[in-house]
Amino acid sequence: MTAWPIGSTVVHKVLEAEVRASLTTALRTEDTALLKRYPWPAPDFSRADGTFVISVHALVVDTGARRILVDTCVGNSRPSVPMLRMLDTTWLDDLAALGYPAESIDTVVCTHLHFDHIGWNTRLVEGEWVPTFPRARHLVTRTEWNHWAGEAGAEAGLRDTMWPLVDAGLVDLVETDHRVCEGVRLEAAPGHTPGQVAVVVESGEERAVITGDLVHHPVQFIEPDLPGMADVDAVLAAATRRAFVERYADTGTLVIGTHFPAPTAGLVGRGGNGTVRFVADDRR
Ligand SMILES: [Zn+2]
Repeated sequence: MTAWPIGSTVVHKVLEAEVRASLTTALRTEDTALLKRYPWPAPDFSRADGTFVISVHALVVDTGARRILVDTCVGNSRPSVPMLRMLDTTWLDDLAALGYPAESIDTVVCTHLHFDHIGWNTRLVEGEWVPTFPRARHLVTRTEWNHWAGEAGAEAGLRDTMWPLVDAGLVDLVETDHRVCEGVRLEAAPGHTPGQVAVVVESGEERAVITGDLVHHPVQFIEPDLPGMADVDAVLAAATRRAFVERYADTGTLVIGTHFPAPTAGLVGRGGNGTVRFVADDRR
């Protein structure tokens, strides 16, 4: 398992699945030579056959005082994507083996409400969907909830993975700049979905940011107009990527990709001629 110390806080990656994707389906481009034009994507972020790997993982932010889970993968949920329906993985056991049994999680941050980010919010127990993290406050932005709640009746995923939490009183609707605790705050990242957030982790002089789905592949930092999979508003999503690069390039902020395969994190910077680049963090 991968972990990144950020000052006295530690961010752990808990992997659920890795899925092969093509540029055409994932970034909606016919430019299949795209990744070959850059020196850095292969082999971690680009395969010889033109595909790349999308990782589905959660991130535990352990500040010492708080145990915050950022996104909860696919879990037992029932999305329309057949290969990701009702997965039977060891993810929950892996989380516990890392030292984070479900009942020890005090906060779940849902960066947005797509199925691959909220699946383990609930589990199917004897035919009933029950909260997996019964002692956690589940943070969802008000904008995100308002967007999806109206469709929830028709959206089986939310009915299974969000409504049991609402019924149990475990959901807090928050603003997109919400401060979760000392050293952990949300940052608006709209476009992929209307109320999506990134999560900023700060401790001492160090800072990391967890992207949510503002990017699916690091090449989108360099070519921000490349749409991500299922971006609700492609123009706004591109503007969010541009603003993200402006904010974090050459700041030493560790960018932890919610869907990046190992090494999963890296630095965004500019070269001498101002071109944006992504340098994977392969120290770990
Ligand atoms: Zn996603």
